[in-house]
Amino acid sequence: MGVTKNFFIGLSKNQALNSAAKKWGLKLGAGKVVAGTDIKSMMQSVKELNANGISATIDSLGEFVHTEEEATKAKEAILKTLEAIQIYGVNAHMSVKLTQIGLDIDTAFCLKNIQEIVAAAANYDIFINLDMEDYDHLQQTLDILKTLLQEYENVGTVIQAYLFRSEKDVENLQNVRLRLVKGAYKESAEVSYQEKKEIDENYLKLIKIHLQAPGYTSIATHDHHIIEQVKAFVKEKNISLDRFEFQMLYGFRSEMQKDLAKEGFSFTTYVPFGKDWYAYYMRRLAERPQNINLALKSMISK
Ligand code: FAD
Repeated sequence: MGVTKNFFIGLSKNQALNSAAKKWGLKLGAGKVVAGTDIKSMMQSVKELNANGISATIDSLGEFVHTEEEATKAKEAILKTLEAIQIYGVNAHMSVKLTQIGLDIDTAFCLKNIQEIVAAAANYDIFINLDMEDYDHLQQTLDILKTLLQEYENVGTVIQAYLFRSEKDVENLQNVRLRLVKGAYKESAEVSYQEKKEIDENYLKLIKIHLQAPGYTSIATHDHHIIEQVKAFVKEKNISLDRFEFQMLYGFRSEMQKDLAKEGFSFTTYVPFGKDWYAYYMRRLAERPQNINLALKSMISK
């Protein structure tokens, strides 16, 4: 892992900067990849995506949750966003991070919160994706998913191709709607592939397994090499276009997003919004150092 990546992952964990950034509004170029700090501005972006045939998965941003009060506030913001999806009548679902609603505080409390969210979403016929965080939270996230699936169908999760265990996880989750990604966190060589080539190979392997399983597959990547290989594979295996979708993050390769939707592929854009944009933005800078140009330009032009 490069120095730059480590540097920005480090910054993403800086709680003091995170707290300060909440008061700044969108700065440092973050407005390019975060769709505003409130529901109204975010919904404007979602409507524009919908007009281009693109659906949205909305993330009400929230990090560093340490108290039940903070977690409850985050849960309420998510419930409000679900209601807004209904009121605005947009084509969208939600992505939720379990640490945001109390996973680090108490598992039972977190389970109660996510049950409330998934139940509210089920009433509106909205899907909830449990985003996957770092390795320390993985097993708990899968355990909570399992509990939720006993009662609800409108829930799924993310599997990260950099982890050795992921092939087994995909096999165990054949019937579940899964988002497949390469993986965004810094994980040890004991549990994860470290080389890009190995990660890419495992990523394609997992995609091919899940595309042939009953569960719906979301292929979340900006990597055109992977996208081309997926297109060739679904054609070769005659996999119907309603069995899978591509996903990308808001503000990334926007023209390619529209082109894929125009080609007839289902497409969903991950739309983060909220005052808590700082750590999300630092993780994006860590992934793609070219984005630093965005940040620098924005700082210089201020
Ligand atoms: P990379 O390996 O970063 O890029 C491969 C190649 O693609 C690059 O070399 C370049 O040629 C091209 N490329 C990539 N980006 C661009 C660009 N912006 N412009 C031009 N060319 C580009 N991770 C998690 O751990 N948990 C999650 O829950 C999670 N959810 C995600 C949801 C979505 C919708 C997406 C898109 C990603 C999510 N991720 C998540 C992040 C993911 O794990 C990767 O860290 C991230 O997507 C970067 O990997 P990549 O597959 O896009 O391609």
